[in-house]
Amino acid sequence: MSDRYALVGNPVGHSKSPRIHAEFARATGQHLEYGLIEAPLDGFAQAVEVFRAAGGRGLNVTLPFKQQAFALCTRVSERARLAGVANTLVLDQDLCDNTDGIGLVRDLSENLGFGLKNRRVLLLGAGGAAQGVIGALLEAGAQRLVIANRTVGRAKTVAARFAGTAACGYEALAGESFDLVVNATSAGLSGETPALPPKLLTEKTLAYEMVYGRETPFLAAAHRAGARVSDGLGMLVEQAAESFFLWRGVRPPTRPVLASLRGA
Ligand code: NAP
Repeated sequence: MSDRYALVGNPVGHSKSPRIHAEFARATGQHLEYGLIEAPLDGFAQAVEVFRAAGGRGLNVTLPFKQQAFALCTRVSERARLAGVANTLVLDQDLCDNTDGIGLVRDLSENLGFGLKNRRVLLLGAGGAAQGVIGALLEAGAQRLVIANRTVGRAKTVAARFAGTAACGYEALAGESFDLVVNATSAGLSGETPALPPKLLTEKTLAYEMVYGRETPFLAAAHRAGARVSDGLGMLVEQAAESFFLWRGVRPPTRPVLASLRGA
């Protein structure tokens, strides 16, 4: 029988993860199955235990369970500890990890050719996705990292955990300029965008939208400003590759998978 892995979240029906991991498995000659588990909102821990008891080896975790995933394991990686949220469980090691940050940094550096060293970075949002990438952005050399959020107090609480970051609301960004603006809010899912001051995005900005598969208002504004743009599909593939490596000890090639998803 193949080793079993899955994505657990609510909802999960839209997920591209089974296809990504199936392509990784094919490319590396690994035998595994990767499924989807839609856990009830109050049933995350139970869903994990049922999967573990049935021989499940590892899980990816998505909304709204990333914080609960962090609290579930006895062993916590340094990346997950810094983030305070987890997106990967290695069940036979009782280990949780967070691969979102390395996924974003690899997409930026390897797929988009954008080095972070000495760059001024603006991170929009202070939820699980934002918290998951701050440590990796700083480690990759970002010179200045500002965290802006609709709820300013939440940005401040998050920034207080990371030396070298500052926090503010969107209106305080007037007159500022950044090399990279990462939209880590979920605003685009409901056709909205953080209320950014005009001229924040210019033709010198890389505007990165974590949401993928749709032209969000943030991406549309970035296009209008002449900025370089990217959605979050590359991050999705790269974070999946790091989870695959944690589970299987083999690093899968990501470019063909990204190309095939983009072509689909
Ligand atoms: P979350 O924990 O629920 O946080 C949501 C964030 O979005 C908060 O900062 C919230 O601000 C902000 N927000 C929501 N609606 C907004 C609006 N209308 N205007 C301004 N800000 C708004 O969600 P998350 O886990 O961080 O996920 C955020 C997004 O990242 C999701 O869309 C997810 O799909 C995406 N994501 C993508 C990848 C990838 O691999 N590409 C990986 C992880 C996550 P408040 O604090 O003020 O409420």
